Amino acid sequence: MTRQFENKIVAITGGSEGIGFATAKLFASEGAQVYVTGRRQERLDEAVKAIGNGAVGIQGDVGIQGDVGNGADLDRLYARIKRDHGRLDVVFANAGISESAPLGALDEAHFDRLFGTNIKGLIFTVQKALPLMTAGSSVILTGSVVGSKGLPSLSIYSATKAAIRSFARTWTTDLKSRGIRVNVVSPGMIHTPAMQTYLQNNAGAEDALKQMTPLERLGQAEEVAKAVLFLASSDSSFIAGEELFVDGGFVAV
Ligand code: NDP
Repeated sequence: MTRQFENKIVAITGGSEGIGFATAKLFASEGAQVYVTGRRQERLDEAVKAIGNGAVGIQGDVGIQGDVGNGADLDRLYARIKRDHGRLDVVFANAGISESAPLGALDEAHFDRLFGTNIKGLIFTVQKALPLMTAGSSVILTGSVVGSKGLPSLSIYSATKAAIRSFARTWTTDLKSRGIRVNVVSPGMIHTPAMQTYLQNNAGAEDALKQMTPLERLGQAEEVAKAVLFLASSDSSFIAGEELFVDGGFVAV
């Protein structure tokens, strides 16, 4: 039986753990060759082994902060894909960081870290991919439910995620003559290493998050991955500029 992404080339930022890693594994199981990025080489090496199907890890930081950032890491990623295949079918701009701070404690460093990674990093992840992409290619961005719903002390993080929805809509119009679709997958509360750290540092948070979720549980990274594959596939061929929530009903209430 032909697998859905046989011989497709997929790039995933933040693909060594959590949602990006689960998505990389699912793409690879459907026949794609996956390129994943992450900052920690050791974890990246483990991830590449677990993903399989010729996956390649490119160590690097998509966080582009002020003058000291690293667009060069993204250049290395795409130069490698260009050398190996000369084309890219799917880019999943997923790397993101979450930090909280109440309004009174916001400072420029917090702003720069979050916007540097979640916005600047995401913009150039997509922009630098475009020369390799052709009609039928797909861009998926990772948003979040907090881009649509207020939670305490998450104003800057939430602002970055709300902006991502607007990028998907604007870029859909920018790219209309090229046949490239751009969509957002917006997870709710998902079990990942980042979430695990948050739960460890905040007693009672898991129960509180479950209560805020109509399906009364946290989601699994694999459940988000399935939505990403749907948005990357021809099954979603008439969906563009859209935001798909994978959140157990979190934004519905
Ligand atoms: P994890 O922290 O579990 O995994 C993040 C991945 O991204 C790791 O592979 C990490 O590797 C990599 N990464 C982080 N920062 C950078 C960077 N600057 N450059 C390159 N790679 C980076 O996060 P999640 O899987 O939980 O989150 C993934 C995305 O989903 C994020 O955009 C997050 O905002 C979003 N999200 C998550 C939710 C959740 O409940 N988990 C809810 C809503 C949205 P390394 O550390 O080695 O760089």
